[in-house]
Amino acid sequence: MFNVNTVIQTQGLSTNSSTSTAFEEHSLERHSQFHEQKLIEKFCRATQLVKLIEGTVENFLRNYRRTRKPEEALAPLRLRLDFNYVELVEHAPQLLHLVVEEPLQFAEAVKYSVYGQVRDLLKANANDNGIKAIDIAQLHTHWRLVDLPLQQNLLYNPTQYLYRLGLALVNGFLSAYTPPETLVLQSIWYCAGGCLRNAIQTSSTDAPLCPNCSRPMSEYQKLRVTENYRLIAVLPAECAQNPRSVDCIYRPILVRLRAHTYDGDLKLGANYVITGYYCGTASSYQFEACHLRKA
Ligand SMILES: [Zn+2]
Repeated sequence: MFNVNTVIQTQGLSTNSSTSTAFEEHSLERHSQFHEQKLIEKFCRATQLVKLIEGTVENFLRNYRRTRKPEEALAPLRLRLDFNYVELVEHAPQLLHLVVEEPLQFAEAVKYSVYGQVRDLLKANANDNGIKAIDIAQLHTHWRLVDLPLQQNLLYNPTQYLYRLGLALVNGFLSAYTPPETLVLQSIWYCAGGCLRNAIQTSSTDAPLCPNCSRPMSEYQKLRVTENYRLIAVLPAECAQNPRSVDCIYRPILVRLRAHTYDGDLKLGANYVITGYYCGTASSYQFEACHLRKA
């Protein structure tokens, strides 16, 4: 639907930089990612989020101890993490900058930071159970940025099809939505050939091959982890002030709305404020909601 090829062509242009410079840049990047993850960890400890992480790990371990099934060691850890604007300003203003400018990088940093915290908690509990580590594919961090004031310096109200690449704002009237669609977050597989191997898939529901005997594996259907999402169409708020322009129509903006990004029902015609970001993949280029609320 959207052609993104013209947008993502910055990589591969700087071919004349020396190897050592590339290496320095790489380690600098590694350092900054580490720094971001540490900031997120610090923020979690300063707020209620650390309790949420601890509680999720406790539930995971309790469940495993109860059943002692190897596939339960691959069960998902789902965390809905609300990053509150006031708390970000108070405890980690650098993170606020990151989430507004680079929401995808922020999402990665959240995932890896929480993974590190989960790993530490598992190590601390290592004597009570057989689980020493989890796969990062088991961790699903649903983050939201809430109570963000709608200031020009924080968000940009897109008009005339001009979007910034960081966090952006869509404000308008809900004109249509799809029925809930299912997004598979994680599936767990076993080898039916008696190899006692398990595997996790995140981005596909195709059967993986057993690492031992190379046969296609079977899925534990009941352990599939899903989330719903809808695609919604939002007409820009300007169309209410100026409903009739000769020879012009207002086109809606399409937004993907995952279940964790909003509470309550959607009402056609209601005015919503959505923060989010454009998320380009090979096949689509859509506005991904980070949080939706009534205007
Ligand atoms: Zn096998």
